[in-house]
Amino acid sequence: SLALKVENLSKIYNSAAGRVVALDNVSFSIKKGEFVSIIGPSGSGKSTILNMVGALDRPTSGKIHIDGIDIFSLNDSDLATMRNRRIGFIFQSFNLINRTTVQKNVKLPGIIAGISSDEADSRAIKILEALGIADKRNQKPVNLSGGQQQRVAIARSLINNPSIILADEPTGNLDTKTGEDVFDMLKMLSHKFKRTIIMVTHNPELAESTDRSILLRDGRIEKDVVN
Ligand code: ADP
Ligand code: ADP
Repeated sequence: SLALKVENLSKIYNSAAGRVVALDNVSFSIKKGEFVSIIGPSGSGKSTILNMVGALDRPTSGKIHIDGIDIFSLNDSDLATMRNRRIGFIFQSFNLINRTTVQKNVKLPGIIAGISSDEADSRAIKILEALGIADKRNQKPVNLSGGQQQRVAIARSLINNPSIILADEPTGNLDTKTGEDVFDMLKMLSHKFKRTIIMVTHNPELAESTDRSILLRDGRIEKDVVN
């Protein structure tokens, strides 16, 4: 079954510099459990796609269905709830809160989604154990290595059992070996736990190791290949 359906999506930015067609009538679907990479040169529309699928911004035209829900038919408040409960985000720069502990970072989206603190703790510990970093749960992220911080961010992305995980250059700030370890963790989540993952990457070797690669150019899909 489908986790995501993107239909005729267009995004036009009007700024002082003029009119930019960031996405031009893009359509694709992603099945539950698929691990898809999005590649393409700078300015080709990768971030714009993630922003739309992640419900961070609305398109100029077109639709996105997540779990069959037409997300842009929702009002801003329901869209924010949908984003918090159904989308997990992983960033290049980890975006962890450094003044609090690993476990509290992982819990936070759960608390925002309205689950109890006890339930969030028990989920957080299980996920941290599954990702091999439960021993770091009382540390502050700033005291961890980059690879460990990204594992914490992956744990945080899982707390609400999301339908889709969006990873924007998740290995971009890591050395090659650590980046491969983080990538292997995403692959494990996809294959063993049937997570649906969309990853933007500039690394062609990692892209080829995903199930499928979508190549963007000038806001259009130039290639969509099974690896
Ligand atoms: P990529 O992630 O592939 O580098 P983006 O999605 O960031 O590409 O950008 C696609 C195009 O849209 C680029 O030409 C970029 O400059 C433009 N763009 C992105 N966001 C904005 C914005 N907020 N305002 C104006 N132009 C934007
Ligand atoms: P990436 O690292 O994916 O290439 P960008 O540097 O293209 O990211 O974009 C980073 C952020 O800046 C995004 O949120 C994007 O929407 C915004 N942005 C990109 N291009 C422009 C632009 N020309 N004008 C305003 N905002 C932009």
